[in-house]
Amino acid sequence: MLGLAARGLGYGIAVLDPDPDCPTAGVADHVEVAAYEDVPAAERLARGCAVVTYEFENVSAVTARHLEDLLPTRPGSRPLAITQDRIAERRFVAEAGARTAPWRPVDDGAALRRAVDDLGLPLRLKAATGGYDGRSQVRIATAADIDTAFDRLGRPAGDAQVAEAELDFECELSVVCARGPDGDFAAFPVTRNRHDDGILVESVAPASVEHGIALRATNVARQLAEAMDLTGTLAVELFLMPDGDLVVNELAPRVHNSGHWTIEGAPTSQFEQHVRAICGLPLGDTTPRATSAMVNLLGTGPRRPACPTGIEAALGERHATVHLYGKRDVAQRRKMGHVTVVGEPDEEPDAVLERARRAAAAVGWEA
Ligand code: ADP
Ligand code: MG
Repeated sequence: MLGLAARGLGYGIAVLDPDPDCPTAGVADHVEVAAYEDVPAAERLARGCAVVTYEFENVSAVTARHLEDLLPTRPGSRPLAITQDRIAERRFVAEAGARTAPWRPVDDGAALRRAVDDLGLPLRLKAATGGYDGRSQVRIATAADIDTAFDRLGRPAGDAQVAEAELDFECELSVVCARGPDGDFAAFPVTRNRHDDGILVESVAPASVEHGIALRATNVARQLAEAMDLTGTLAVELFLMPDGDLVVNELAPRVHNSGHWTIEGAPTSQFEQHVRAICGLPLGDTTPRATSAMVNLLGTGPRRPACPTGIEAALGERHATVHLYGKRDVAQRRKMGHVTVVGEPDEEPDAVLERARRAAAAVGWEA
């Protein structure tokens, strides 16, 4: 989607990915098939490029640091290093003046038991690095769960992980914003998100929250983007607490699943905005066209070649758009695509979401 947006602005694209069949291969002029840690491959990639970016925060910060010496690498290695490590991320958020859930770094069972004493139950034990889509975190609901937690997480004791209080939030929100090299800033409307077992299921934007809450959420995002001195896109995931407080859950220095609705729902998509930001072009208009609802198309069943069904029915829903990412294989809960419905000007957000759910439910995968 980022590649398509860059194409639309007339740019050529080279991509580094370990998988020769990666979705970007379909729109790239050149695919450098290599591991993210492969610095010589990254240097080959950069040759002839004007700017480098990433759209996955588990690429190597070391590689990004090398590229920074060669050409503009945006957002660069610092935002990557901060957001790759939940411990660094939480410290950064606190220093920038925003809230996180109460947490402790823990490296073994004894430290975890102390964290339980301090923070209470339930807790989440989250791997400090490498997790996404709810992978690499476990729930600790009772004292009996403590002893098995490190085993269930699958990370060795001795490495610091995050133990964090589980919050009883009102809802989850996110802000996707962009910042240009000269500090100009633009945010998309605050989005309301629902996750299931750690994976984003659906988003509605603009979120139906009080104006004051939306304003505070956007200000938090701006504050964090500035503290990071970021050029590019920052996605900020937040918990809205019953008392109106906003708690930062996670940061991503890239385009974000909760911003996918902007492709149809805003004059400038998050992808075009990111390209504009990293290329030093003026940022585009982020005013929403109407209420948009986005529902993810998650895979079901065992891993096998992906053959979608029900696309015609999904497209039959008024103002529904189906996006398929071209992943070769489908697997249980793998993100394969998404559906967006842009509502009528006076349509209730719940009704728009209901239509997006209906369109997405029509899509399946051949056995
Ligand atoms: P990931 O990197 O896998 O996205 P997150 O930390 O964002 O990990 O967690 C995924 C989801 O799990 C969140 O969006 C939220 O729904 C739930 N979650 C995570 N941490 C907490 C918490 N402290 N309290 C309540 N729910 C949480
Ligand atoms: Mg998350």
